[in-house]
Amino acid sequence: MYRIRFHARGGQGIKTASRILGTAFFLEGYEVQDSPRYGAERRGAPIFAYVRASKKIINERGIINKPDLVIVTDDSLLLLPIAGVLLGVTERTVLLIATDETTEVWKKRLNLQGLVLSISTQAAVESHAGLPLLGVACVGAAAQLAGAISKSALEEAIHEQLQPLGKVIVEESLAAAMAAYDQMEPYARCTTEREDPSADSYESPHWIDLPFEDARTSAPYIHAAATTFNVKTGVWRTMRPVIDLKQCNRCALCHIYCPDGVISLDAKGYPQIDYQHCKGCLICLLQCPTHAIDAIPEHGQEGEIS
Ligand code: SF4
Ligand code: SF4
Repeated sequence: MYRIRFHARGGQGIKTASRILGTAFFLEGYEVQDSPRYGAERRGAPIFAYVRASKKIINERGIINKPDLVIVTDDSLLLLPIAGVLLGVTERTVLLIATDETTEVWKKRLNLQGLVLSISTQAAVESHAGLPLLGVACVGAAAQLAGAISKSALEEAIHEQLQPLGKVIVEESLAAAMAAYDQMEPYARCTTEREDPSADSYESPHWIDLPFEDARTSAPYIHAAATTFNVKTGVWRTMRPVIDLKQCNRCALCHIYCPDGVISLDAKGYPQIDYQHCKGCLICLLQCPTHAIDAIPEHGQEGEIS
């Protein structure tokens, strides 16, 4: 069985990417599971998706803990422990990173023993319609690395999944996927299937047995107030909202609509963004009636949170 895990940020098209890869495996006669995992998160939050593919019935369920291939479409996630990118990665796991740094840099930085490959983020960033193509490029690469998916199956899967978005998106996605497929040709079939574990080798989960306690003792107890403030959700941001106060009419709509309540109003009624906690969902930008809010890429900006 192939066990493939994608890591991305919300908005990078990873849910669709896992669906395309799963469909391509299915078209090649595989049993498939493909599933994204994310909560009520928005653009920029770390999310993951996974694909299992096997010629036999798949009885395994849940998160893939021992992946054969890990795909990362945003290299900043590699340095974010909460994203869990390196969970279960061993010397037989292939790691594919969309990055503009060299694979040697990542191998050294992360002390990895296995094969690390990269595709350039410059190669496929956005379609003309503004939709991200990195996800679909990674699918093309994954298809080649697994060595089990032909170009025709990949093409059919992209058509099937992206047709509703229109001809231009389909064509641009095909181009991005096929370019990555060709780029990975020297590494074809380097991702290998791992057999299903036998019942004998079953490892029980690392349960922690909690002794039963009187409800007055074991009921939830919060030891301090306002602890969510300590979680710097600003690290999720890929685009930074910036307010031009000269265009602001102090309507306070951004302050009202920000789902995280991170836009406060100063003494004169002008909005101020708390960048430590702004997740970059850009709802404020959409709501601003005077177009006073712009979005700039977070990477490389002064005060970038890491
Ligand atoms: S400030 Fe804007 S971009 Fe940041 S969390 Fe609030 S609405 Fe989203
Ligand atoms: S929504 Fe726009 S105009 Fe209104 S307060 Fe916010 S930045 Fe100013």
